[in-house]
Amino acid sequence: MKEYDLVIGLEIHAEVNTNTKVFCACKNTFGEEPNTNCCPVCIGLPGALPVLNKKAVEYTIKTGLCVGSEITSLAVFERKNYFYPDLAKAYQISQLVKPICIGGGIELESGKYIRLNRIHLEEDAGKLIHKTKTIGTLVDYNRGGIPLMEVVTEPDFSSADEAVEFLDKLRRIMIYAGVAKCKMEEGGMRCDVNLSVKEKGSTKLGTRTEMKNLNSFKMVKRAIEYEAKRQVEEISAGKIIIQQTRKWDDNKGKSYAMRTKGNSHDYRYFPDPDLLTVQIDSSSAQEIKKSIPLLAQDRMVIYTQKYGLPEYDARILTNEKFISDYFEDCLKLFDNPKQISNWIMTHILRILKEKPCEDLNEVISVKNLIEIIKMTEQKEISRPNAYELFNSICFTNLKAKDVAKQKGMLLVFSESKLEELIDEVLKTYSNALANFDKTPEKVINFYTGKVMGLSKGLANPQKIQAMLSEKIKSKL
Ligand code: ADP
Ligand code: MG
Ligand code: ZN
Repeated sequence: MKEYDLVIGLEIHAEVNTNTKVFCACKNTFGEEPNTNCCPVCIGLPGALPVLNKKAVEYTIKTGLCVGSEITSLAVFERKNYFYPDLAKAYQISQLVKPICIGGGIELESGKYIRLNRIHLEEDAGKLIHKTKTIGTLVDYNRGGIPLMEVVTEPDFSSADEAVEFLDKLRRIMIYAGVAKCKMEEGGMRCDVNLSVKEKGSTKLGTRTEMKNLNSFKMVKRAIEYEAKRQVEEISAGKIIIQQTRKWDDNKGKSYAMRTKGNSHDYRYFPDPDLLTVQIDSSSAQEIKKSIPLLAQDRMVIYTQKYGLPEYDARILTNEKFISDYFEDCLKLFDNPKQISNWIMTHILRILKEKPCEDLNEVISVKNLIEIIKMTEQKEISRPNAYELFNSICFTNLKAKDVAKQKGMLLVFSESKLEELIDEVLKTYSNALANFDKTPEKVINFYTGKVMGLSKGLANPQKIQAMLSEKIKSKL
């Protein structure tokens, strides 16, 4: 049997993180009552005129700058004509010949560079809700007009894993840059997979199929693996692949032919006469570049090189921006990256697995966590008690110190304080040490009494005895 290479190109749609829609003043929100968040512009009433949202353009430029794209000096919005019930105007405002960003790319861990073809800005369509046969299909136009960035890659991927790694990296870049939230479960980031196979080593690309709107990494992986196998089987059986759009059914784990796929000229794109050409001068692009914050990759470098964290820890901490932000907020209160990282990795992330949430302050406030870490470090509380304290104040508004007091967890004399007192009595009464060989118990009791005296009876005698005998043995 012949061997085949897999060729994949991705088109990723991400909802841009603006306050309002891209051509009208309706809010850019999710989860409102159907058809309550629309206006004449976004439902395409005749005569309504679009006004471009500047922020949406800026965020698209910002994304391009994060991935090394060239920013065009003149961007044009065009009408992509097609009829579908979720698109009331019967055309989508998009970009074809003059997109905002051209080229660029993202490097994978292996060092392989995935080239981008472009990033353009367009409007989202409404949403069809398929009900029972008798009710039929309903349409909700709330999503219509929400700004979408479309990132188009060159056909550079040769496996599902590469595609998923790329998506994960792109998602993180967008979230860190603040340009998109990429909530995949809300459809805030969706991916079309274009896939073909070719004989191993051949330079000629095969005919591709396209699977639209995959909205989880897992779905992307499964869809690619299934479709690659299907195409190889078809070709091996002497059939040809038809350029078509296929629907991925994640429940059945199969893709189905939906329609043969046309090309861009079928949409009769033409510049939208209601919108002006957008002029982007290099100085405003420069300003936007300055506003790019540190991205996950940059924070990784700081965490490993400046804070000395293992790469594994740094990767986990930067995996989600909200975790990385929380870690950095903790650092502002207590300069001990390793301890803070340990607590987040072992305790907070464990809780997050059981009960997902996106603000770690809800699990435990930065202030409370630092309080617990400090008490533990200064030996005001034992480690097991610290863990118990942590668990008992998670998802509450209680203060760590108060609860530790109430539960009697505070060691009145911290270990380090006790150690000071022990050193003091050993020094003051150094003669008594000579009898340790003959009557060790007596000697320990003698010193314990002295330490108890200094602590005004507040320290724990068993604890002193234990510490004393260890200390004396280490001296002998
Ligand atoms: P459209 O899907 O809108 O027609 P393009 O023709 O620009 O747009 O291609 C879209 C995507 O398909 C790109 O990500 C591109 O890399 C990918 N692609 C193009 N040709 C192939 C191919 N032969 N095999 C796999 N992917 C391909
Ligand atoms: Mg496509
Ligand atoms: Zn509107």
